[in-house]
Amino acid sequence: MSARILVVDDVDVNVRLLEAKLTIEYYDVLSCNDGATALSLAAEHQPDLILLDVMMPGMDGFETCRRLKAQAETRHIPVVLVTALDGRQDRIRGLEAGADDFLTKPIDDVILFARVKSLTRLKHVMDELREREESGRRLGVDSDGAARLRSEGGRVLIVDDDQRQAEKMAAELSGEHRVTIESDPEAALVAAKGALDLIIVNVAAAGFDGLRIVAQAKSGDARRAPILAVVEPAERPRMVKALELGAADILPRPIDTEELSARVRTQIRRKRYTDFLRQKLDSSMEMAVTDALTGLHNRRYMTGQLQALVGRAAQGGSQVALLVLDIDHFKSVNDSFGHDAGDEVLVEFAVRLATNVRAVDLPCRMGGEEFVVVMPGASLEDAGHVAERIRRDVASAPFRVMGGKEQITITISIGVAATTGDGDTPEGLLKRADEGVYEAKAAGRNKVIAKAA
Ligand code: GH3
Ligand code: MG
Ligand code: MG
Repeated sequence: MSARILVVDDVDVNVRLLEAKLTIEYYDVLSCNDGATALSLAAEHQPDLILLDVMMPGMDGFETCRRLKAQAETRHIPVVLVTALDGRQDRIRGLEAGADDFLTKPIDDVILFARVKSLTRLKHVMDELREREESGRRLGVDSDGAARLRSEGGRVLIVDDDQRQAEKMAAELSGEHRVTIESDPEAALVAAKGALDLIIVNVAAAGFDGLRIVAQAKSGDARRAPILAVVEPAERPRMVKALELGAADILPRPIDTEELSARVRTQIRRKRYTDFLRQKLDSSMEMAVTDALTGLHNRRYMTGQLQALVGRAAQGGSQVALLVLDIDHFKSVNDSFGHDAGDEVLVEFAVRLATNVRAVDLPCRMGGEEFVVVMPGASLEDAGHVAERIRRDVASAPFRVMGGKEQITITISIGVAATTGDGDTPEGLLKRADEGVYEAKAAGRNKVIAKAA
């Protein structure tokens, strides 16, 4: 997986230097010399990362960054500002302009690649989430609100045995966040299991191995919480190791409180964004595609999938078969045992259905007591065999309902249809299978009828 990187610097030598370094590591590099071009290149080529010089004539790096982060097409692309050596103020302004990170000139290769790797990895996760959000929207699932995510009120754990330093950080952050300090590494790992938005670990601590804490936190229950590693700038290997172990960011000692605040805010915002997408999408996507009673796919999901599969089959792709299954005399189950018992029958039927189809098949509840199984790659004959197996499995053992108080014998009628490679449509396929059901009912129920086209 080669990431694409956009390098922006008004000094051509700098561009070529970075280009050379990145190309050797197999990154795909684009470049330009000014902010305006960077904006259009970013929108057009969608790089995975932008390395942006701060000092440029005309539109400087801050303004370019702000505009990149204000545009929907480029907002999600991580921006790394490249600043002068003692550019402390620049770094803070950059983070406030929405930059995801910064690098100091002259650029240290190890830190460059650690940052590039961690940011491109993060971007791939975010891309996947955004894609799911997109498909959610296509399904009519509303998942707005991401823009309202706040960076205040974060739950922050500081793991540090340097009491003065820990208290200094806590004092700075307490205005905006809920902060706890833990100086004992064992207790810290227990605390890290709680719901946290950020963990700050002093990897330069005297009394414990901070790197070990980073590694353990990243592999345990707390792995979703980003880690900000406090490092001693002179201890380069530890600094690099912290990033390799999964620290989201580093903060050099002595701690600059403004930089601390800005970095914490960035991490928490990012954490909330990913949490938001993940949770909201997981539940709403699931609701949108799942039948609430049985947990099978619903009609909406089935329709979309069938459309795609039949379309592919029509263009010479593999065949697709379809079963329509309808429970016989289901009304009398409700009438004799009540609606709740009827629901239990539907749930048990869904279980028998799902356990009798292949992993690639899509068992769905169309509504009421009518079900559909979409079978990619199956012929009419294959599908007929599966249908027969389901029919037998349902009829052979009674359904236990009402806590085992009642046992009801259930039968089903099944219609089968399959694509023929000639003018197939999802509607046509469903109609043929429906006709099969109708004929099965007419022929006395508890039957499978396969309808050749
Ligand atoms: P047939 O053999 O001809 O299919 O007869 P049937 O009684 O199964 O068919 P009909 O379509 O006449 O009746 C279906 C019944 O299913 C009527 C409806 O009350 C019931 N039903 C639909 N949805 C649900 C549900 O979610 N739960 C329960 N318990 N009953 C449902
Ligand atoms: Mg029925
Ligand atoms: Mg019916």
